[in-house]
This record gives sequence, C-alpha cells and structure tokens, in this order.
Amino acid sequence: MSAFAKLQLPDRGEKIAVKAGRLQVPNRPILPFIEGDGIGRDITPPTLKVLDAAIKKAYKGQREIAWLEIYAGAKAQKECGELLPQDTLKAIREFTIALKGPLETPIGSGFRSLNVTLRQELELYACIRPVRYIPGVPSPLKRPEEVNLVIFRENTEDVYAGIEWSAGSPEARKLIAWLKKEFSVQIREDSGIGIKPMSEYGSKRLIRKAIQYALDHRRRRVTLMHKGNIMKYTEGAFRKWGYELAAEEFSDRTITEDELWKKYDGKLPDGKTLINDRIADITFQHVLLRPSEFEVIATPNLNGDYLSDAAAAQVGGLGVAPGANIGDLTALYEPTHGTAPSHAGKNEANPTALILSGALMLDHLGWREAGELIQNALARTIQQKRVTYDLARQMEGAKRLSTSEFAEAIIENL
Ligand code: NAP
Repeated sequence: MSAFAKLQLPDRGEKIAVKAGRLQVPNRPILPFIEGDGIGRDITPPTLKVLDAAIKKAYKGQREIAWLEIYAGAKAQKECGELLPQDTLKAIREFTIALKGPLETPIGSGFRSLNVTLRQELELYACIRPVRYIPGVPSPLKRPEEVNLVIFRENTEDVYAGIEWSAGSPEARKLIAWLKKEFSVQIREDSGIGIKPMSEYGSKRLIRKAIQYALDHRRRRVTLMHKGNIMKYTEGAFRKWGYELAAEEFSDRTITEDELWKKYDGKLPDGKTLINDRIADITFQHVLLRPSEFEVIATPNLNGDYLSDAAAAQVGGLGVAPGANIGDLTALYEPTHGTAPSHAGKNEANPTALILSGALMLDHLGWREAGELIQNALARTIQQKRVTYDLARQMEGAKRLSTSEFAEAIIENL
C-alpha cells in the first residue's frame, strides 16, 4: 500500500483489488470518505452510521467497511493547510471507490471548483444521477411514480473544461483580435471568452458507459440529449458519435429509432435496447410531461448539470437526489446537492441524497442486499411521515426530525 503524508489508515481493512478490469472486493474494504463543507458535517456522520448498520444487518457481521477519512475543502484547509491535498487524490486512486459530501465553490472568485478538479484529476468522466421516486415523498407531479431514469452526464469537457478568460484580459483581447483577423468573426471587445471543447473520444466513452449500464440493468431506451440543432460541431457531433458508437460496439443489442419504425413498426423487439436522440429543450418538457419515455439519458456536461437538478425536483428535490462520478474503475459517490450553507451546522439537512449515494456505492461493491435494505428502510421511514424539514414543510401531518434523528429512524426500520 502507498504511504500517505497525513492520513491515518484504519488498523484493519484491505484494498479493493482489480483483476482483468474487474473489482475484487474483500470483506473489509478500506473506503475513503470526504465529510464535505457546509451541511457535510451534518449529513456525513449519520450516513456512515446507516451504511454500517445496513451492512451489519445484511451480512451478520461478516462484512464491514473500514472507513478512511480524507480531506478536501475547508476541513482540508484546517487540517492540512490546503484545499485539496495530494493525499486525497492518492487515496481515492489507491482505494478505487470513495464517498463524498458536498464541497463549496465560491462564485466568481477565480477559485477553481474542487468538485470539477476532483472529477478531472481522477478522470471521472461519467456523472451518474439516478432519478427515481420514493413513495411518500411530496412531488409536484400527478404521477411521480412514472419517473425512473438515470442521467449520464459527461464530466470533463464542454464549457466546464475551465478554458475561459475574463472580459478585458490580455488573453480575451488577443483571442478576439485573432478570431477577427483569421476568421472574420465579430465579437464585442468587452466580451469574456469561454471555449467549449467536445471530443469524439470523450463523448464516446461517456455514451459507452450509458449503453453498457442500460444493457446491464435491463433498461430498454438510451436517449442522446443534445443541442445539436444550434451547436452543430459540438452537441451535434455528440449525437453523431453516439449513433456511431452504438453501431460499432453494440449493434447486436441495440436499434435506432429509424430502424424501429422502418423494420418493427414502432414496437421494440425483445432483447434490443432503443437508441434515440432528443434536443435538450424538448427533453426538459418531455421529462416533465411524459417521464415514462425516458430510462437512460446520455448528455454533454452543461445540459446534464441542468437536467439533473430539474429531474430531481420532480421526485422531491435536491435533498433526495443521489449521484456518482465514475471513471474506468475509480468511482466517487456523492449527492447532487451542494453545501446548503444556510442549513450548515444546524442538524436539520436531509441526509437522504448522501445515504442513497452510499446505497449505490454498495451496489457497485456487489453488496446489493445492504443497498436494498437501505432503500426499503428509507421508503418506510418516509411513509411513516418521519422526515427532515425540507419534506416536512410539504407533507401534511409529518413529524419533523433532525438529521441525526432521521438517520436513527432509518436504522430502526432496517
Ligand atoms: P445547494 O447547496 O444544493 O442548496 C440549495 C438549496 O437546496 C438549499 O438552500 C436547500 O433549500 C436545498 N437543499 C440542498 N441540499 C439539501 C439537503 N441535503 N437537505 C435539505 N435541503 C437541501 O446549492 P447552492 O446553494 O447553489 O450551492 C451552495 C454551494 O454548494 C456552492 O458553493 C456550490 O458551488 C456548492 N455545490 C457543490 C456541489 C458538490 O459538492 N457536488 C454541488 C452543487 C453545489 P431550502 O433552503 O429552500 O430548504
């Protein structure tokens, strides 16, 4: 095992091994976690308790996680004198799978988002956001139970690549002058400039993950969501590369919408998954009005960021939306929400999104039974109307619990 400058490794526990591209998970894997900024300190400790209790119950003490605290954000600044210590990146690489609370990004301060940095440094190119209704959660939809989709958002490219210069900077001025001279492009002198790179390699590896996920989880539809009607050579290319990839690598198990109508009169044949595409704006409408038409959505970075939060709102909001950032092997599980600073330190935030992210992580480890116990206990707790403030304010007759009380109620219901 590698040496770490400041981390205290747990006494017992082993590393997850990788053989022939597959994870070999021991009974006591060392898994790193980042507590997170803001409400991170409220939701992370009770989440670890829920995960531990579910694992204990599912495997009668035969399995256990050896947690390793690693640092990022304000706690890292305090403990290690920097926001993202090398130890943190090294530990996630070494132990392969980790859990993470939210991290703050001050707006417009020139400070690069730690979340984006983590994703880029670790090559976590797929952001996975399952959006599924938990019965009992207040929802603005008439039939929220129809929402059961998984969003695969590209994580490393697009306008999020961080290639931008502020208005009036020497770089922006130089670029504007060059574009004008070389390509006769007119851009106002006082413009800030951002670059939107989207590659065939980056798009295809994301779409490959989405299609593979659909096939592994018996999902019948993968939608490529893009804004290719306007941004033809980035978003439009994403669509083109998606169809190409499906034809090159998955032709025996997928069909396109064209083929569906030409050959099968619109009826999806057994054993095939449909690959279709939709423009981003209409997708927002359809996900709201006809959610059952979507199962897996693969989309570039910015579209995916917006859609993840919008879709989460349909099933109860950010407090209940889990997620993961995944590379070829490395995976970082984290909620969709941020640090919710106005609720920090008050023991009132909803830990559901982080708990469900943990349940997804258990699924990834192959510890499905423990993940299912958590999902069921959580649903039972919500049906009992024992909920945190965010859900209580929308539910009649609910008992408002603190973060830690809510976690205890889930443990009771395991
Ligand atoms: P946010 O932290 O997600 O919070 C927005 C609002 O959503 C909260 O004020 C709260 O609404 C509700 N909310 C979020 N999480 C909740 C929870 N667990 N329980 C109950 N309610 C919850 O978004 P933000 O205010 O835009 O961002 C704050 C900071 O987080 C920023 O620095 C941002 O960059 C960062 N961020 C980090 C991540 C990440 O780490 N992956 C993701 C997004 C944002 P009410 O107050 O109305 O109840």
